[in-house]
Amino acid sequence: MQVAEQGRDIGLADAEARAAAAEAEEIVEEAAEEHGDVLGPVRPDDRVAHLLERLASDFVLDNTYREQHLSLTASENYPSRLVRMLGSGLQGGFYEFAPPYPSEAGEWAFPDSGANASLVGKLTGIGRQLFEAATFDWRPNGGSVAEQAVLLGACGRGDGFVHFAHKDGGHFALESLAAAAGVNTYHLPMVNRTLLIDVDRLATLCAEHPEIKLVILDQSFKLRWQPLAQIRAALPEGVFLAYDASHDGALIAGGALPQPALLGADAVHGNTHKTIAGPQKAYIAFRDADHPKLRAISDWVCPRMQSNSHAELIAPMYVALSEIALYGHDYARQIVANATALAHALHEEGVRVSGESFGFTETHQVHIVTGSAADALRLSLGDLARAGIRTTNIEVPGANGLHGLRLGVQAMTRRGMREAEMREVARLVAKVVLRRAEPAAVRAEVADLLRHHPLDRLAYSFDAHVDSPAAARLLGEVFR
Ligand SMILES: *Cc1c(COP(=O)(O)O)cnc(C)c1O
Repeated sequence: MQVAEQGRDIGLADAEARAAAAEAEEIVEEAAEEHGDVLGPVRPDDRVAHLLERLASDFVLDNTYREQHLSLTASENYPSRLVRMLGSGLQGGFYEFAPPYPSEAGEWAFPDSGANASLVGKLTGIGRQLFEAATFDWRPNGGSVAEQAVLLGACGRGDGFVHFAHKDGGHFALESLAAAAGVNTYHLPMVNRTLLIDVDRLATLCAEHPEIKLVILDQSFKLRWQPLAQIRAALPEGVFLAYDASHDGALIAGGALPQPALLGADAVHGNTHKTIAGPQKAYIAFRDADHPKLRAISDWVCPRMQSNSHAELIAPMYVALSEIALYGHDYARQIVANATALAHALHEEGVRVSGESFGFTETHQVHIVTGSAADALRLSLGDLARAGIRTTNIEVPGANGLHGLRLGVQAMTRRGMREAEMREVARLVAKVVLRRAEPAAVRAEVADLLRHHPLDRLAYSFDAHVDSPAAARLLGEVFR
């Protein structure tokens, strides 16, 4: 089936919709003629083949795109085959409400096989272990819900909270919600040159505004580890300290960055699909199972903001975290080594890389400064996209309003790239960004590089073991 036919199932301009309907009718008529049976116009197996053919074309389109694109966005990853498969392992997702604190069965308790509770037990066990936490709430459907629940559970009307300003990389999910809920927003005071929080000024801010009840480190543009122990020590007692690890979750769990819970964060939360290569889900993990805010924050996740927590994703979350438990140490170290290598190589190519004074990066991210917002947008959605290089345009923290690109190396690290390939990646990015090379020519070089890094044998994953006879037999059992 031609890729050009894709739009008929989705975007559907009128003419296209009519064409699709006509085509479907034709198929039914042909089949009816063949089988002479109006009620069963297409043999069931033919029908499935036809359906799959239409679906397969979408998957082929997407797989080909992923195979041939250098994914340098910091917020996406490639889940392993087992993670992808197990998302459909349960025969329908049961509702699962149980909160991460002791509770009685209530109005929305369901009889079940016990499998949900067992799966939740496995997942929360590994989650607690990876984040040095006493609880692990697997229910938030995304990193935004997790941080919003923290905000609403920690602050009431008239209270205040402190987070990173957008220009310093703060995430966008909190300020409108805070305004609507009557919570005052303050921004973390920063030192531009180091991109570190100015702890003394933060202490002053909290002293001057005793209504501040929450400090949340919610950076999406993140090059550095922040001085969490000093921050904790500087905060008045009772101020909730939250660490949003949506970006650096695998670096923390893999030991390349410190554990926020051990340094005084009340909760670590984040999603599971950026450096962690899991499904699009999230978690909230508390340091203390008896924390006075545990109940309020958990209840904001469920039942207030969500009732459906996608229980079918418990198993793939568990598999993704198991990959981190097993391979995370090497994965996290290789990510940081790759980001550092990429930053240095870009710098040597003449690209303006942020953060030279601290060695460019301590995370999976590299920030480059290219000029105005329009320039950055043109690059990421224009020439770089045409060259097969996927990036995100951002206002670069600490660059006085200049824009540029946020690059992340975690996905390419999963495809097995190391420092040598990072130098090649830097050369290709610089060719487009600096030397204005013809995107189509660079695209051919990108495809060449990626040919050696297939998507079905991801590093730091179970991919190499999925086809073993024992695994195949057990998967047969799962999909019975
Ligand atoms: C990506 C991100 C989120 C949002 O996660 P979703 O799963 O997309 O809802 C929240 N916080 C931070 C810091 C992020 O970078």
